[in-house]
Amino acid sequence: MFINGQWETGAAVFEVYNPATGEAVGSVPDGTRADAARAIDAAGRAFASWSQTTAYARSELLYRAWQLMRERRDELARTMTLEQGKPLKAARNEVQYASDFLLWFAEEAKRVYGRTIPAPRPDQRFIVLHQPVGVVAAITPWNYPVSMITRKVAPALAAGCTIVLKPSEATPLCAVEVFKILHEAGIPDGVVNLVTALDPEPIGLEFVENPRVKKITFTGSTEVGKLLAGRAAAQVKRISMELGGHAPFIVLDDADPVRAAKGCLLVKFLNTGQACISPNRLLVHRSIVEPFAAEFKKRASAMKAGSGFDEGVSIGPLVNREALEKIECQVADALHKGATIETGGARLTENGLDRGFFYAPTLLNNVTPKMRIYREETFGPVAPLIAFDSDQEALAMANDTRYGLAAYIYTQDIARAMRMLEGLRFAIVGINDINPTAAAAPFGGMQESGLGREGGQEGIAEYLEVKLAGISI
Ligand code: NAD
Repeated sequence: MFINGQWETGAAVFEVYNPATGEAVGSVPDGTRADAARAIDAAGRAFASWSQTTAYARSELLYRAWQLMRERRDELARTMTLEQGKPLKAARNEVQYASDFLLWFAEEAKRVYGRTIPAPRPDQRFIVLHQPVGVVAAITPWNYPVSMITRKVAPALAAGCTIVLKPSEATPLCAVEVFKILHEAGIPDGVVNLVTALDPEPIGLEFVENPRVKKITFTGSTEVGKLLAGRAAAQVKRISMELGGHAPFIVLDDADPVRAAKGCLLVKFLNTGQACISPNRLLVHRSIVEPFAAEFKKRASAMKAGSGFDEGVSIGPLVNREALEKIECQVADALHKGATIETGGARLTENGLDRGFFYAPTLLNNVTPKMRIYREETFGPVAPLIAFDSDQEALAMANDTRYGLAAYIYTQDIARAMRMLEGLRFAIVGINDINPTAAAAPFGGMQESGLGREGGQEGIAEYLEVKLAGISI
């Protein structure tokens, strides 16, 4: 753990496992609620001076952290593949994405502008100030274990806030490496604090109940997000919630089915389907289902599963046994209700894969709204295909979800794309594009996919209070 500028070993430790092999690969302190309280105290004390530093000074430290992260890209990627399982190339891409937030917010720190507003009285002036909210408590998931940290820490520091972070118990080693970088970059003591713990509940309780914490920022499942948001409401704490998704991938009849299938496959199997923006319903026009499914099947069945360290592997393991069992249940339910398997549909156990949690890249056809997979986030390498007959039907099906994070449309007609874009209740829409994300772009969800945005200009606003001064002159 890293509290008030000191590395601590804690009274107890817990093991971290490689999901590709089941082997223990390290251990970290098992932090307690009291540790979280100490970290919050440290952040509270540091806030007084950190919030008074200039935007230029904060920017420079973030810039240094950006440089260090780029230098350590390979090292960090190896740690990520070891404890999270994604292929090394994907891990390197994630570190790049993670470092982008350090650079972006190093720049945004200097652009926290206020405003003057014309007043109704001749002897009055209005000025709007933006000030840091105070101590921030952050909780992050395991699926993007480096970028989900920088997407919170960078804007918080840029705004002048101090922070305490609890990473996922599945991927604390990445968090330790990120905090080493922040420390070496010269961020002052107490400004950034890390508490690792096997049981997240007591740490989460301290975060929401400690009155020194002014903001909770969370990335993870909708279920846990709701729990934390409900608890944070007792003190009317500010919250940012980046939650689950159930992305529709809509392919209209004028789209090239082969190109759409290629794109769909790449984003579906990214991180073995363990991404909040992963397509969870492939809505394909009935007239092109066949060529789409054929291309998807051909490519999916050729994908190689294995350790992320092995050459040519593009399907890593699932995070744990529960994740595997959830997928097995969703597929069994779909088959029972009439879905058919085009490819995959089973756990992978050959050539030593049984030591980890591997599932074959899968395409399910004839999926209907009655199936669990039509509504539940899958978080695995299973693509459910549903045919539709009209744009209106596709839009209605796409919106038939409590989530609202990412959606994708493939079409060659800009007018149809615009109508879809305007009708979709999703906050991120890719139009013939499978990667509508960047540090400079606002990321977040509508409906039960969350509140607030990360990245972009919006990302720093989440850490700022708006203060109005009315002045009589
Ligand atoms: P999770 O909700 O199980 O865990 C997320 C974090 O919350 C972890 O650090 C965990 O330790 C902590 N946590 C769990 N229970 C808690 C409690 N009672 N109190 C306090 N903290 C608690 O989610 P996960 O399995 O780590 O991540 C997968 C989920 O995250 C998916 O639903 C995915 O869609 C979502 N996600 C969303 C985004 C986004 O930007 N919207 C990005 C990545 C992941």
